[in-house]
Amino acid sequence: MVAVGDDSVKRAPAPAPLDLVEAFINTADLETASDELATPGGLRTWLLDRRLINSSESVRERDRRQAIRLREALRHAVTANSKAGVDRHTLRELNHLAHDAQLVVSFGEDGAARLNPSVGGVEAGLAQILAAVFVGMLTGRWTRLKRCGNDTCQWAFYDASKNRSGRWCEMADCGNDAKGRAYRARRRVAVGTRSSSH
Ligand SMILES: [Zn+2]
Repeated sequence: MVAVGDDSVKRAPAPAPLDLVEAFINTADLETASDELATPGGLRTWLLDRRLINSSESVRERDRRQAIRLREALRHAVTANSKAGVDRHTLRELNHLAHDAQLVVSFGEDGAARLNPSVGGVEAGLAQILAAVFVGMLTGRWTRLKRCGNDTCQWAFYDASKNRSGRWCEMADCGNDAKGRAYRARRRVAVGTRSSSH
């Protein structure tokens, strides 16, 4: 695991399989108003790049809407990792999506148990993301996946800090507000005081 103990260090991606969940939430970049899942083709490319679907699969608008529902429910769920409690609407959404995913326990050739979707197509691809959430919860790492405290950003990030106190994503484009200015000021001070040791 990459140690990120200092707030001024750019964050490393979440460890697998939570990196999948993190990347999925971050398909929407609210600050630049871009969305990798804006079209069914975009969703197809994203799922194909991660081998979550076969190249023979087609992606429909209905699938895309399902993906967006999952993404926004997960964004709410990781927001709860910074604050307290998951709201009822998010729980309902996640339960609904988990039901559709039909995840079942199966054993691979190595004898290890896995959660696999019993459906096919795009639903199976999205189900893998839910399975990653489940594994992340079992390993105790899930609560480190957080939503950036900057409301105009909302980027998902992995808080590897010792005391789990991270609040912001620290991406370069997260900062067109007071928090960003405060962060940059802090960083300038930090860089200034350390300049002799680097
Ligand atoms: Zn941010």
